[in-house]
Amino acid sequence: MADIVETIQQKNPNDTVGILGAALDHYGDKIALAMSFQVGGAVLLDMIHRMGREVDVFSIDTGRLPEETYDCAHQITEKYDIKIQWVFPQHDTVEKMIQEKGIYSFRHSVENRKECCGIRKVEPLTRALAPYDAWLTGRRLEQGGTRHALEIVEADPKHEGKIKINPLVKWTVGDLWRYIRQYDVPYNQLYDEGYRSIGCECCTRACKGGEGERDGRWWWEEPEHKECGLHISYTNGSGI
Ligand code: SF4
Repeated sequence: MADIVETIQQKNPNDTVGILGAALDHYGDKIALAMSFQVGGAVLLDMIHRMGREVDVFSIDTGRLPEETYDCAHQITEKYDIKIQWVFPQHDTVEKMIQEKGIYSFRHSVENRKECCGIRKVEPLTRALAPYDAWLTGRRLEQGGTRHALEIVEADPKHEGKIKINPLVKWTVGDLWRYIRQYDVPYNQLYDEGYRSIGCECCTRACKGGEGERDGRWWWEEPEHKECGLHISYTNGSGI
């Protein structure tokens, strides 16, 4: 990992194309783009496309995504002529959780919410990442909360030996939308209804004036809990 960290750290953090190029050169077919069909991932995919490069794309279908997310995924698939690797939760563990705790168990406690995210997101992510050494995410420092100390390259403590690359770490939400408009990148229509971060339908709502980007996610929880386990270790509590 040291060589790629050094290579990327020597780059201007605002040189997103340079960071992407270095990551794709280094990892070849051992890197993938994780997409949840939010604007960050769409910008990264468009950039890679414009660079004339290709990357594997995977997405986790938790079973509770909004229809608008599938619509966005369909538009992206058509525009970039790509095949998305959809990964689903294990049906037996979902069934067991629902039978034992009900369909809204995640609203009863942080532990239940983490259990649901663990079953529907974290376990599928582990399977999705199995063939790869690194993954690209659209996370940004500006999102705050558990992302206040985000770096461009990070070791992934949940998936030993793998690293995460966050090429948009310095981007603002304004930067993202300027890019989306300039290059006519497909985006999730929920953004037009006031959503600022989009996940499962039942755990996401539109933001009210003055609310931060992540305030519409798990709005009943305290900010320090607002990660689904894809980007934070629940075992040692460290945000990565
Ligand atoms: S965001 Fe909500 S519904 Fe989706 S996996 Fe997490 S707790 Fe479950």
